[in-house]
Amino acid sequence: MDEVEGLLKELTEAGGIPGHEAEVRQLVRKHLGPLGDISYDRLGSVICEKRGEARGPKIMLAAHMDEIGFLVSHITKEGFIRFAALGGWWDQVLLAQRVRIKTAQGDVIGTIGAKPPHLLSDEERRKLVEKDNMYIDIGATSSDEVEKAGVRIADPIVPVSEFTVLASGRTYLSKAFDDRGGCAVMIAVTQRMVSLDHPNTLFAVATVQEEVGLRGAKTSVTLVNPDVAIVLEGTAANDMPGASNEGHQVLRLGGGPVVTFYRGDMIPNRHLRDLMIDIARKNAIPLQIRADGRVRGGTDGAAIHLHGSGVPTVVLSLPVRYVHSHGAIMHRADFDAAVELLTEVIRGLDQKTVTDMTAW
Ligand SMILES: [Zn+2]
Repeated sequence: MDEVEGLLKELTEAGGIPGHEAEVRQLVRKHLGPLGDISYDRLGSVICEKRGEARGPKIMLAAHMDEIGFLVSHITKEGFIRFAALGGWWDQVLLAQRVRIKTAQGDVIGTIGAKPPHLLSDEERRKLVEKDNMYIDIGATSSDEVEKAGVRIADPIVPVSEFTVLASGRTYLSKAFDDRGGCAVMIAVTQRMVSLDHPNTLFAVATVQEEVGLRGAKTSVTLVNPDVAIVLEGTAANDMPGASNEGHQVLRLGGGPVVTFYRGDMIPNRHLRDLMIDIARKNAIPLQIRADGRVRGGTDGAAIHLHGSGVPTVVLSLPVRYVHSHGAIMHRADFDAAVELLTEVIRGLDQKTVTDMTAW
């Protein structure tokens, strides 16, 4: 496992559901700490300031640390645990998955219970089980046993999935590439900037609570007050069977990071977007352009670009198969291309370039 794989393993396996980002925050802090001055907003987002030339523009690189997960909502007297979902889960990917309940006494492993086929009626087999009817089983036989294990109402629950390098050697399987992939890109870019001159001040920001409403983006952008922002994300690749409608755009794993032209919640600054595309072309860095307005889901860019009187913002995403599940897949080539591209873009963001972005 090389350095990037080690970083992705560490970050994706860490727990960090919205509002409970402590585990992943510590890791981000460990990696960003040696690279600049660390501060926090009051919701828990991490901000690393790396100064370049004195009076250059302020560039905010943002990636969210939180992942989708659950909270304990009820313990039945038979010892089963009901849960509330945080973030956008699809019920179909939950059954029989492993989870880790973070209790005050330590971690407790459980599985999301699924009736075996032996017990299903013909009608049940055809139906989707809804998460309100699911429960977590920690192998207890009474509520007393659950309590003894330390589980309490409102304890956070994290998906469990082991980071694995797949057969190609270039693709990785894990949970939470959305957006620990973005966090890893951000850390790698900030590491590079340490040995390079740049005409600006870089703020690498790991935000909290994106999956429940872009909340850490709102608070951290107020502290940073950037001149330009680049949001790093994980987005849904649709290169698998049945995922794209014929005649529509296909975003491929390994086809390069994705810059989005339009989404329901944000239109990127045209100059910043075009600068990114030009630099990719000049340096022969693969880049995919998403212009499909039907794709759902918001990003921190929605909050950041509306800060103050407006911030020129663009969203750059790693394509991820099966995003928002225990078994997501990403490609190393997309990671490397994103790091390469961002390094070049940041080096090009001087005062004039940034001023011109909002010269109407
Ligand atoms: Zn995300």
